[in-house]
Amino acid sequence: MPPEPSRTRKPSKKLAHALKIIQALKQKGHEALLVGGCVRDQVMGKEPTDYDIATSAKPDEIERLFKKTLAVGAQFGVILVLPAPGLRFEVATFRREGTYEDGRHPSWVKFTDARQDAERRDFTINGLFLDPAGEGRILDYVGGEKDIRGRLVRAIGDPNKRFEEDKLRILRAVRFACTLDFQIEPQTWAAVKSKARDITQVSHERIREELVKIFTRPHAERGLDLLDESGLLEVILPEISAMKGVEQPPQFHPEGDVFVHTRLLLKQLKDASSTLALGALFHDVGKPPTFTIQDRIRFNNHDKVGADMTRNIMRRLKFSNRETEDVAALVDNHMRFKDVQKMREAKVKRFIARPTFQDELEMHRIDCLASHGDISNWHFLRKKAAEYSQEDIKPKPLISGHDVMKLGIPEGPRVGEILSAVMDQQLERKFKNKNEALAWIKESYIEKG
Ligand code: ATP
Ligand code: MG
Repeated sequence: MPPEPSRTRKPSKKLAHALKIIQALKQKGHEALLVGGCVRDQVMGKEPTDYDIATSAKPDEIERLFKKTLAVGAQFGVILVLPAPGLRFEVATFRREGTYEDGRHPSWVKFTDARQDAERRDFTINGLFLDPAGEGRILDYVGGEKDIRGRLVRAIGDPNKRFEEDKLRILRAVRFACTLDFQIEPQTWAAVKSKARDITQVSHERIREELVKIFTRPHAERGLDLLDESGLLEVILPEISAMKGVEQPPQFHPEGDVFVHTRLLLKQLKDASSTLALGALFHDVGKPPTFTIQDRIRFNNHDKVGADMTRNIMRRLKFSNRETEDVAALVDNHMRFKDVQKMREAKVKRFIARPTFQDELEMHRIDCLASHGDISNWHFLRKKAAEYSQEDIKPKPLISGHDVMKLGIPEGPRVGEILSAVMDQQLERKFKNKNEALAWIKESYIEKG
């Protein structure tokens, strides 16, 4: 069945709240409209992720009207309205903006009307307003409806000028083209290509946000292509660009070079977490610098080298430590999957109990599908994970370091080794209780010496 036209669909909870905010503003005599991505998505028949509101009300008037607000960017005319726990809406005063000279914020803003607010936006498809009153009338000052129909990302006004004002728009053109699966209008594309190197003037945080959207949303592989073809990849992620043309042993990688292989992983992503998406992007980033020809092409240690490179790249892009370490774990561990069927039970349990396991498992699956196609290790681990699902595979240790030392083992690395061996036995259900564990330590380490 084709989807219902979205404007007649029962409003979601988010939309209902957005409409209430609009109504409250209107009751005070202000103009208030839905704007940007949510209008574009509605026109395309998609459920928007967020609803942004544009209004003639000034920031202090918005603040006064709602109980809970956050003045995140009051000087730029942006107030967050928090109508209920977990819900936040950007309510922004109609404005014009100066250039983003520091790469983060416009140099000035002036409050104005809806038409000029549309004209300061980046692309025609993002410049639409929707008046939810009555039939849900669209206000299109920039030709956005036609471009949505034609599936085109087109800068509003002169693309070169618009990219000079805020260089992030160069990257955003690519982001909207891939996630929406649109073409970039020729003049806009020419400007993207000629200005790609200017992206370095934008803050790492803003670049990071766009990159995460490119790689976690649909058509990530096209995102990689467009980043590459535009020249942005070379500047933002030279380590990924370096994968192009790096040959691999054809018996394991019939698909081609490291870049082609990575692209195929991205193509397999579906509703990916950012950890998984970035793990897929970076998993073989260690291959270019470790390429050697011995008996065959080899990439010795590329997993460890790649994990370190991943940390460097993600620190550069100002990801949090948590995100960085999770993605680095995916890169670091991706070669361990080939040995899982040879692991003892305790090792398999430890492997599965790690917090990043689910993302790693999925990355392993798409890594195989993007090369030789053999997913027997994935099947094996899925079966094991199901088998252990009723069991505590990260049990409280029966024995502490203190217990070991009480048996006469001096403080030092040997205590750790014994604890780890005891945990292996515990995971393999060799003991029922602490006394059995203590007896086993005595027998294995003290009596034998
Ligand atoms: P999504 O939220 O699905 O990623 P979106 O269109 O809502 O898509 P946002 O980045 O949330 O994208 O921006 C909201 C709106 O603000 C855009 O639709 C656009 O109108 C405007 N906008 C955002 N960033 C810029 C920018 N750098 N230059 C001009 N306008 C912008
Ligand atoms: Mg948005």
